[in-house]
Amino acid sequence: MCIFCDIIDHKIPSSVVYEDDQVLAILDISQVTRGHTIVMPKHHTPNVVEADDETVRTVFAAAAKVARFLKEKTGCAGVNLLNNCGEAAGQTVDHLHVHVIPRYGESDAIQVAFNPSEPQDLAEVLASIKG
Ligand code: 5GP
Ligand code: ZN
Repeated sequence: MCIFCDIIDHKIPSSVVYEDDQVLAILDISQVTRGHTIVMPKHHTPNVVEADDETVRTVFAAAAKVARFLKEKTGCAGVNLLNNCGEAAGQTVDHLHVHVIPRYGESDAIQVAFNPSEPQDLAEVLASIKG
């Protein structure tokens, strides 16, 4: 059972921002900022690393389109595009989706922060990743 598949199948109502043959974009039920939208493929695939390339292209292209639309319609100052992949990264619904979050200013109920970290030896990091 997948709640987003149920939304796509119209078993659960949603507020549709954008739709085409491949993609559905709906208002997130929990509006972190006004207009917060989630963009998903119409077929079930769990996350961005398991999806096929064409699905990834289609969903991210649609997310960019939705970002342009929201920027024009809300007058927001900026937009965050966010994909959570896996429980450890905060994914709670295992159906690929991209959050499109309009940004208005410092009072937005979201913070995206890269906390300070120890300097790393990038050659060592790269070698450990690439093997
Ligand atoms: P995740 O944490 O997986 O990146 O994001 C899942 C998002 O789906 C959450 O922001 C949550 O508010 C949203 N969500 C969960 N259930 C529903 C629902 O039934 N309707 C809508 N519109 N959004 C939902
Ligand atoms: Zn699904």
